[in-house]
Parts: sequence; C-alpha cells; structure tokens
Amino acid sequence: MTQVIKTSEAWRALRTGDLKDHSIGFVPTMGSLHAGHVSLIKRSLQENAITVVSIFVNPTQFNDPKDLERYPRKDEEDLALLRSLQVDYVFFPDYKTLYPDDYQFRVTESIISSIMEGSSRPGHFDGVLTVVMRLLNIIQPSRSYFGEKDYQQYLLIREMVRSFFMPVEIIPCPTVRDADGLALSSRNVLLTPEDRQKAPMLFRLLSSTQSTDAIMIELERHGFHVDYIIDYEGRRFGAVYLGKVRLIDNVPLNETH
Ligand code: AMP
Repeated sequence: MTQVIKTSEAWRALRTGDLKDHSIGFVPTMGSLHAGHVSLIKRSLQENAITVVSIFVNPTQFNDPKDLERYPRKDEEDLALLRSLQVDYVFFPDYKTLYPDDYQFRVTESIISSIMEGSSRPGHFDGVLTVVMRLLNIIQPSRSYFGEKDYQQYLLIREMVRSFFMPVEIIPCPTVRDADGLALSSRNVLLTPEDRQKAPMLFRLLSSTQSTDAIMIELERHGFHVDYIIDYEGRRFGAVYLGKVRLIDNVPLNETH
C-alpha cells in the first residue's frame, strides 16, 4: 500500500522507527511523471527495501515565473501511477514544509553551476541544490536516483553530497527517450504538434559527428533558437528553445566526434 506523507515530522517518525534498519531508495521529482521517472523508480524498487518518491514543483529553481506557472501538474494521475508501481511512500510536502526559512539559507556552487544551464538560468542551481539537500536531509535515504537527462544537475548533486559528507549514494540513470530519440521531459506536452515533430533533431545532431558550430547553424536553420551547444567533460550538451519551450539534452562524446 502506497502511503502519502506530507510533513517532515511524519516521515522522521517512520524513518527513526519502523524503517530504522531498512535500505531506502529515494527519487525526487517535480511530478507530471513519465517513463523517464518510472525508470528511476523501478531501479530504486529493485535495489532497496523501501522506495520513496517525492513530488514538489520547486519554485526556487525557476528563474522565470511564467515557466513556473506553465509547468504541467497532474497530481492525481501521478499518485495513481505510483500506487500501480507499488511505491512504498510518496513525500508530498508544501512550500512551508521545505522552506521554513522562506529560502533565507541556500546552497551555492561556484564553478560547475556558472556554465550552461547555470549561465542561462540565474539562480537555477542554487534552487536545485538547496531543495535536494533539504529533501535528502529529511528523507535520509541510502541511495538517491537522478537522470542523466539533467547531467549537469547530476554532477552538481554528486559533488555537493561529496563536499558536505552527506551519507547517501547518488546513482545516475540513463536518459529515457521516445522512439524518435526525443528525451522524455514533463515539458514536452507543451510543444505544438509541429514543434514536437522537429524536436528529435536536437538529439540527432548532438549524436552526429558535426562540430558544435555546425550543429548550432543546422538547428537555427530549422527554426530552433539555440541557447548553447557545448562539449564538457566528455559529453556534448545542448539547450534550445522551440517557441517558448526550453529543451535540454546531452550525449557522451566518442571517438567519432
Ligand atoms: P524532474 O521531475 O524533471 O525534476 O525530474 C526528476 C528526475 O527524473 C531527475 O533526476 C531527472 O533527471 C529525471 N529524468 C527526467 N527526465 C528523464 C528522462 N527522460 N530519462 C531519465 N531520467 C529523467
């Protein structure tokens, strides 16, 4: 039976009581769940006695208030899906539960977070790192699962946990894609049918042997507004806009690049 927990106190009572000696897998999400989230959840279910999934659309990581307003939400459907997967606990906090200080205290990283998503979305990674640290401190999982789809985020969380000696294992999980290559994202539902047709070109070109400059030109020619195409730490990262919708993706670089 899936149990919904809304407060840190309710979870703490379980964590220090009945669940004291269990391995706990934790998957933080912003809801609007899709097969990408499900792959993380299934991995956690396999590797841990207990799985906790959180749903919280974290306002502090949205640099654009309109993006926060538009962000898709489907709580009831999400809960039904989590029940069908036999997830043990859903942590469903409100803003006050996670931010008793109203975001007076925050985690800032100064190097990795200054490039790519960090330079395009000021404050984004402060919000991400701060909410993830709060969630990990509340849930106290043995392992926590993150998607390679957001690879820069994964790197930052891995390094935060190492730097602050947090007793949790951070596990990266491969990007889940639609059949045409588009990385699944909650934001994909916001694409117009025409843009949805175009969208897989981002993955196709990132995976090609072309230079970053050539990829940029090709995408712009097809009506994408390119934010960046960058090689970093053995991967090729891209961020584009199709209309108002921002898409990001990344692939490992290999010998052919
Ligand atoms: P979000 O709800 O977008 O904050 O994502 C929650 C977690 O799911 C993050 O660790 C994401 O990286 C991961 N995730 C999102 N989309 C995908 C995907 N297509 N494949 C794998 N993981 C994903």
